[in-house]
Amino acid sequence: MAKRVLIVGAGFSGAVLARQFADLGGIKSLVIDSRDHIAGNCHTERDAASGIMVHRYGPHIFHTDRIDVWNYVNRFGEFRPFINRVKASIDRGIFSLPVNLHTINQFFGTKLSPSQAREFIESKAERSIGEPANFEEQALKFIGRELYEAFFYGYTRKQWGCEPRELPAAILSRLPVRFNYDDNYYNSPLQGIPAEGYTAVIANILAHENIEVRLGTSFDPAMAGEFDHVFYTGPLDEFFGHRLGRLSYRTVFWEKQEATGDFQGVAVMNYPDAKLAHTRVHEHKHFAPWEKHDSTLAFVEYSKETEATDIPYYPKRLAPDKELLANYAALAREQPGVSFLGRLATYRYMDMHQVIGEALDFAGTWMEASAAGLSR
Ligand code: FAD
Ligand code: UDP
Repeated sequence: MAKRVLIVGAGFSGAVLARQFADLGGIKSLVIDSRDHIAGNCHTERDAASGIMVHRYGPHIFHTDRIDVWNYVNRFGEFRPFINRVKASIDRGIFSLPVNLHTINQFFGTKLSPSQAREFIESKAERSIGEPANFEEQALKFIGRELYEAFFYGYTRKQWGCEPRELPAAILSRLPVRFNYDDNYYNSPLQGIPAEGYTAVIANILAHENIEVRLGTSFDPAMAGEFDHVFYTGPLDEFFGHRLGRLSYRTVFWEKQEATGDFQGVAVMNYPDAKLAHTRVHEHKHFAPWEKHDSTLAFVEYSKETEATDIPYYPKRLAPDKELLANYAALAREQPGVSFLGRLATYRYMDMHQVIGEALDFAGTWMEASAAGLSR
């Protein structure tokens, strides 16, 4: 008999899973989401007054080095080339991020060549640090104290609400450091933004006769009985009613910036200065440079600790979280008939290409196990 599964969450994780099951396994799914829209945190919508495409939950730039993931998303929408060229505003002026030769020469008032800059930064870096144990050590080891304090310390304190030395080194190793003038925020060879936004891409992924989508519907464990399996992409601790405690997350919120014409001339301007409350300002028309808009929409972003009613955006993964995570992961492994995937259900700081890649891989593995009668 054909299977019917329940997928909780209509973000990239849930949508890709449903589509793979539909296309490759003939499996029918009901995809539910507690919000009134699909696409999870990648949701985009056109502002009614200006027509500008707004990334409702903050800027989303697609980047990957997996060609299968790139080909997959391009099946469902046209991705236009987009290189994120982030700027940072500090007391001394406007600088280029990620740290590159322009940042180094401007910051230190030098005219160094690539090899001179490498040597110069090495002389500043704290090479006595072995394997960096945290964010701060990662910074001191690779860029030295001055650049760390100017661009990373204050921003990170504001973004994560704790000392950088409490955070994993991996948060910083997301960003490249370059000794040339390449100011592309990412190293990935495949980058872009969908011409009609992410919601249109996810709507196309979900458009299949085997997939039913029900919005404004929260998961209730009583639903599980009607399905052969449940795939859950919401927060892991919430699934278990927070019975072991709460995993810590940061949430972000935005204030609309009054602006006309071109407010800041770039999509993202970061504000690392600890004296300012906000972390960055995003101006959304610059995420779609192929469109022409005379007016503009910009948002000032702030970060805070998550309260019960806030959307959890960033998994903090502090030491106590990791312990709690291990205990929740043990409960999850013992939960029959339910699989957990995606950024929230695995409590990992994952980008879109990573959740899509994992959903593609997971769907294949699960269907094979299911066909062999091995899935739980
Ligand atoms: P989500 O998109 O969070 O989807 C999960 C869905 O489950 C949500 O729609 C939620 O409403 C629903 N849900 C949860 N619990 C329940 C429940 N109990 N019942 C029913 N529904 C439920 N990635 C990039 O690649 N590039 C970027 O530039 C980038 N920028 C980002 C900026 C911000 C501010 C944030 C927060 C994230 C950013 N990301 C970026 C990461 C990206 O948003 C995630 O990788 C992606 O959204 C994860 O997809 P997902 O489907 O796992 O989770
Ligand atoms: N970061 C920083 N200063 C910046 C930009 C980033 O200190 O100007 C740090 C900060 O801790 C941030 C991390 O680097 O959380 C990763 O940055 P990224 O831009 O990847 O964050 P995201 O887009 O996920 O918010």
